[in-house]
Amino acid sequence: MSLFAAVEMAPRDPILGLNEQFNADTNPKKVNLGVGVYYDENGKLPLLRCVAEAERQMLEAPKARGYLPIDGIAAYDLAVQGLVFGADSEVVKGKRVATVQALGGTGGLKIGADFLKRLNPSARVLISDPSWENHRALFTNAGFQVGTYAYYDAENRGIKAEAMLADLQEAKAGTVVVLHACCHNPTGYDLTPAQWTQVVEVVKARGLVPFLDMAYQGFGEGIAEDGAVIQQFLAAGLDFFVSTSFSKSFSLYGERVGALSVVCASSEEAGRVLSQLKIVIRTNYSNPPTHGAQVVATVLSTPALRSLWEEELAGMRTRIRAMREALVTELKAAGVEQDLSFVTRQKGMFSYSGLNATQMQRLRGEFGIYGVDSGRICVAALNPGNLKAVAAAMAAVIKG
Ligand code: PLP
Repeated sequence: MSLFAAVEMAPRDPILGLNEQFNADTNPKKVNLGVGVYYDENGKLPLLRCVAEAERQMLEAPKARGYLPIDGIAAYDLAVQGLVFGADSEVVKGKRVATVQALGGTGGLKIGADFLKRLNPSARVLISDPSWENHRALFTNAGFQVGTYAYYDAENRGIKAEAMLADLQEAKAGTVVVLHACCHNPTGYDLTPAQWTQVVEVVKARGLVPFLDMAYQGFGEGIAEDGAVIQQFLAAGLDFFVSTSFSKSFSLYGERVGALSVVCASSEEAGRVLSQLKIVIRTNYSNPPTHGAQVVATVLSTPALRSLWEEELAGMRTRIRAMREALVTELKAAGVEQDLSFVTRQKGMFSYSGLNATQMQRLRGEFGIYGVDSGRICVAALNPGNLKAVAAAMAAVIKG
């Protein structure tokens, strides 16, 4: 009998399954809004000019590829700290943050999860209801019991802030709370600064462990605005985790560029935490790859390239916002009468459209428009070439 005879087929990743279905669809007018990536106005994945220029400079002075330190490129880790906490912040200057280069935002979450499991094996993890689908799987596979806190308010198209606070209030001390720092995936609804203040207060009072997932810094309101929540956690004097992803903000999906930062009480403590993060990394993949992090470090630490990046990031953000407005206008023009202002209130790449699974399936089957059954559509995949068709199809299924 084969060694693998008893191995069961694992369920397919729902989003990848959707992509396969999309690729197999022969409808020439098909549109894929199920993706989690930013496409430009021509429906193409962009190569940012700042990235191309950094790569050109790197090619001009090619370097041998030795192993990187376990925690990655030092200049990269510093640049991450500058972006997330502020280069002049007290925590960075006082060396109270342990930052390691990671394989995308997912890698940052996984290093944090493995470290937390060693630190407090019996802790529970709470994620938002709903959350990015990999949060539950990642923390479960790291050995945690994963529960949820209230978040999405389908009826009022927003967040159940009171219920969320109540759930956090009930959590046991030491519970890890995974929070989306900005541009909540999948709903697009973010807490207001005042609501964040309340969350910070409860987290502090209850002794919870905040783990901020920042996968879309710069896609909501701006780099500083989207990072403002970090300042609230710092001001409260809390220890916390932040995972960073540059997949979207640098359009570097396949390079796997991210980080994990752990804010500690002192530089001495940060040194001890860093030593443990390094063990997690060393025993998983030894040390990270060079290219993507070198590109990001070059862009962030070269003033001209950094301003170019900020400009290009603002361009992506502005285009998504314009698509939100245009979608609402087109839906109204197509006769949809309900209040659609929620689409423009949402932040980031996604919109919880409010469409149900049956409506999403009709969009696919009858119109070749692919979104997730939860109603999530990627606004960053809309463009002037597909907008009218998408709006007409959505209007048709909304009107029944
Ligand atoms: N966290 C959230 C909320 C995400 O939406 C994503 C990507 O879709 C990630 C983390 C993972 O990012 P990366 O591709 O850099 O691993």
